[in-house]
Amino acid sequence: MNMEIAFSPGITTCPKCGSKLVLYKTERRIVKSTGYTFTAVHRPMMCRHDGTVFRSERISEIVSPHCTYANDVMLESSVMRYIEGRSSSEIALDLHNGISERHVRNLGIMALDIFPAIHEDNMEKLKSAVHSYILQIDGTTDSEFSMIVVVRDVLSDFVLHAERCSSESHENIKSVLQVVKNRFGDPSGITSDMRSGIISAARETFPG
Ligand SMILES: [Zn+2]
Repeated sequence: MNMEIAFSPGITTCPKCGSKLVLYKTERRIVKSTGYTFTAVHRPMMCRHDGTVFRSERISEIVSPHCTYANDVMLESSVMRYIEGRSSSEIALDLHNGISERHVRNLGIMALDIFPAIHEDNMEKLKSAVHSYILQIDGTTDSEFSMIVVVRDVLSDFVLHAERCSSESHENIKSVLQVVKNRFGDPSGITSDMRSGIISAARETFPG
């Protein structure tokens, strides 16, 4: 079954000059999502008066301009890769949509840049949601990038900060904790798996 989903900008007149928009062109492309494959029919519109082209924002939220695989594939494969700790080849097989092991690996690498950027963009929202927090700090090893240090609030389960580090050294942990302190203040409690480097870094950053 070939499902078609239509996309167009949600406006009918030009926000700049108020003129009526006319169809600019029709673009059809195959998009593979985690659950299904569909044909995206995108109809950008053009201002009749000044020629400005308006594209659908919705489609750019769903899939990157030159990618066949929808953004949810990146999200799902990154959860399997970094949270469940599975290999790229296993994930490729499991997704059942023809994606290659290499592509899964590339999406995982892209995700390590994109997700922190989304996190930073939403920092004010996060700050306003976190008042009192209990800090939990953990390191996750990654075969390609050595180590990702994750600082989480136990109460809300929000990730406060995550950073790629070369190792779980005292200095690295301290600099990660300093970022958290600057943004969220002192925690009301600290938990960790109690490795000595983490404990001493936490004591120095949050004395008392
Ligand atoms: Zn216009």
